[in-house]
Amino acid sequence: MSRSVCPRCARPRPLCLCPLIPSLSSRTRVLVLQHPSESRHALNTARLAVLGLERARLLVGAQFGPQAWEAPGLRSVLLFPGESSQPLAAASGDGPLQLIVLDGTWKQARKMLRDNPELAALPRAHPPMEPAGAASRYRVRHADLPGALSSIEAIVRALNVLEAPAAYDALLRPFEALVDAQIRAMGQDTYERHHLRRSPGRKGRQA
Ligand SMILES: [Zn+2]
Repeated sequence: MSRSVCPRCARPRPLCLCPLIPSLSSRTRVLVLQHPSESRHALNTARLAVLGLERARLLVGAQFGPQAWEAPGLRSVLLFPGESSQPLAAASGDGPLQLIVLDGTWKQARKMLRDNPELAALPRAHPPMEPAGAASRYRVRHADLPGALSSIEAIVRALNVLEAPAAYDALLRPFEALVDAQIRAMGQDTYERHHLRRSPGRKGRQA
């Protein structure tokens, strides 16, 4: 990594994604708590989401105390699906939220909750199911790329609910470009063999 790297998006300069990163405002404040191994990952997409949102923050670490999510006037909700989580739309009843997103693999996220009981004690909400068609196309295309990719999509889906009718899909533009570059780098044939063909009902090439 001695090559010149963009200090903002952390991509090598020739692949800088900054021109594609929007600058969106929201009532909801997004706070990403990122597992340290994720921060070293080449496809660090939560960072792209945070850069595109005016008030969003990203903290890297394994241990977090309540001062990490202290936010006067905002109710903190952990975006983490599970038995105790409620639909996000229901959680957004009274006033603006601070949406806390754990960025890492499932295993890392669960460990973060085990190691940080005060974080685990926060109310939890899950983003809405993917609408048929629209969002699922990302799921298919990115099926086997690292789990961190889903963070930015979860953030977009959550904001689309909380901030409706405003839409935050523009946040995905640098992410799409990143994934397309990744697909080109691995070669289209390899990508299709490993990522598309195992998906039932999906046959042949995409043009
Ligand atoms: Zn950049």
